[in-house]
Amino acid sequence: MTNASTRVTAHHLSRNAYLYVRQSTLRQVVENGESTQRQYNLADRAVAHGWRQEQVITIDCDLGQSAAGTADRQGFQELVKEVGLGHAGIVLGLEVSRLARNSSDWHRLLEICALSSTLILDEDGVYDPSCFNDRLLLGLKGTMSEAELHVLRARLRGGILNKAKRGELCQKLPIGYVRDGSSKVVFDPDGEIRERVQHLFDTFARLGSAAATAKEFQRARLDFPARLNRRGGLVELVWNPLTAIRTLQILHNPIYSGAYVYGRYGERPGPTGTKRRVVLPRSEWLVTLPGSHPGYITWDEYLRNQETIRKNGLAYGVDRRTLTPREGPALLQGILLCGKCGQRMWVHYDGRKEGKVPIYECRSAHSQGASEVCQRMHGKAIDEAMGQLLLGELTPEAIELCLAVQEQVRERAGDDDRQLKLRVQRAEYEANLSRSRYLQVDPSNRLVADSLEADWNEKLRALRVAQEDRKQGASKSPRRIETEQRAELLGLPDGFAALWADPSTAHQTKKRLVRLLVDDVTLVRGEDILVQVRLKGGAERSFRLPVPLCAFELRRTPAEVVRLVDELLGSHTRLGVVAELRARGVRTGAGDEFTSESVQHLIQAYGLKPYRVRLVDQGMLSRAQAAARLGVSVSTAQDLHRSGQLTGIVADDKGTWMYDAGDVERLTEARSEAKNALKASIVRSRTSAAV
Ligand SMILES: [Zn+2]
Repeated sequence: MTNASTRVTAHHLSRNAYLYVRQSTLRQVVENGESTQRQYNLADRAVAHGWRQEQVITIDCDLGQSAAGTADRQGFQELVKEVGLGHAGIVLGLEVSRLARNSSDWHRLLEICALSSTLILDEDGVYDPSCFNDRLLLGLKGTMSEAELHVLRARLRGGILNKAKRGELCQKLPIGYVRDGSSKVVFDPDGEIRERVQHLFDTFARLGSAAATAKEFQRARLDFPARLNRRGGLVELVWNPLTAIRTLQILHNPIYSGAYVYGRYGERPGPTGTKRRVVLPRSEWLVTLPGSHPGYITWDEYLRNQETIRKNGLAYGVDRRTLTPREGPALLQGILLCGKCGQRMWVHYDGRKEGKVPIYECRSAHSQGASEVCQRMHGKAIDEAMGQLLLGELTPEAIELCLAVQEQVRERAGDDDRQLKLRVQRAEYEANLSRSRYLQVDPSNRLVADSLEADWNEKLRALRVAQEDRKQGASKSPRRIETEQRAELLGLPDGFAALWADPSTAHQTKKRLVRLLVDDVTLVRGEDILVQVRLKGGAERSFRLPVPLCAFELRRTPAEVVRLVDELLGSHTRLGVVAELRARGVRTGAGDEFTSESVQHLIQAYGLKPYRVRLVDQGMLSRAQAAARLGVSVSTAQDLHRSGQLTGIVADDKGTWMYDAGDVERLTEARSEAKNALKASIVRSRTSAAV
């Protein structure tokens, strides 16, 4: 096998020698230069066996690539291609493991080498893969190499896992935590960072949605801290606006609950052999040690948050029970179930002059291909009835709960103010720092002094902005419910009714109040609407409502108005009708003033006859018809009209004239009599002339 001279033939020498050089990581490339050098030196071995220097082709584009899979290793693929095409007389590699750490890749290469009678050279000697013994040996070497990699990894991983199981493996800490001198995880010493992280969890607990939390931060102009690793081991603290994704990352991270966790992520092989990082379900985490360091929330709170996030996510899924209250006025949004099919009902809004009207709708059948929705109804009457029901259900305990909601709102304002105050303090501190830096510098060092002065000015500007924001925030905070008001609310359900009826009470607050008392509401639309309410604690209430009119029915013109329009059309053109209706203060179904178009719409919708048609029915004649009866041209008829011999009436808004048939008849007769008289006189004058 090492007897190279018997293996290398002129046939091999006529083809090229391929030197494959690889180091698995870039760090190895830099630090393990010796190995790389040894790999390159193999070229000399090829020359010693009789290849010319220029025949040795080096493939080193895989430097810094792991050999565990071929997908990313262009060089290896190139090598296999060249061997397959019969261009290679010999393949040089320092160790078999350098060629492939994956058995299947290696055996493929061996197979191809055997088919194209290509030799393989490593540090131990020259092999001919077409020879059984050599192939066996090379195969073994490949298997050993793969096993070596496996053992190495297992050992490394075992060590890591052991350390992780004791909670001692140092992991990168998120914002809000640092390591103390004895590398224990402790809260960040920066009070503002601590407060802000805590504020995020508090806000989420109150609002129940990551997106709402991020919005709330933006509304209150609160940025969220992050530590960026800069070059040279420097860490920079930056403050950025909080995004929903960032909020989710923080909420999902179990470290904030004081738990040490290892193995939240796993790897799944992709189709190309590359691995994808995936988040594992909590049951598959390798190490979970709750209570291993101080937490911003408890482990139970963490689990509750995960459940809330999961439910929020289900808003887009199939099973959606209760959803977070949103801004819209639909009181029952998120707690409505369809009594026909059991699916969640949706809310959408119909824009009206009097504000948004909620429409409750079950689209489950529709989403499965049916052309109709399962059921749909106007929500206004239902919401009002629900409000009445709740007012009736209010016990002192229920009111206590409602007050807690109000108190939350007020506390939130206080919270915001504390955060803004901290921001002002930070800005003050930074401004002072810049000032003292500026004062310390030698004034003759103009360049430095100028830049420090600019920095100081910048910090002062930031301070002013922070102070301004705080002032604005304070003016916006809702007023506290005073003690006597509390007593009033507790004493009288009427007080609650006032809070309920107060237009300044936010829709979201109302919805939260509803959810304090109601589990869910089921609607069935039949002859009337059956509303079944499940109250907290299991009690049930149900009531029926008449089916509310749908949108077009609500806009329909009342029958008496249609009758009036019909009547007026007997003696008025469209504009005449409009003037008459306006004078009487009659409006359309949608509450608008009548116009020529809306009257026309009624004429078409109800098949009413316009004034002109009625005149035709009464036997009135158009100008052309009148002219024909008179036996004159249309322009002559017009002249007759102008001269006042023919009287007519305007039949429409375009100014079309119509003439009474009797008038025309009379005029025809009068004209023919006049003609006859004229004729007679002519005859008379002729005869008298003849005489
Ligand atoms: Zn349904």
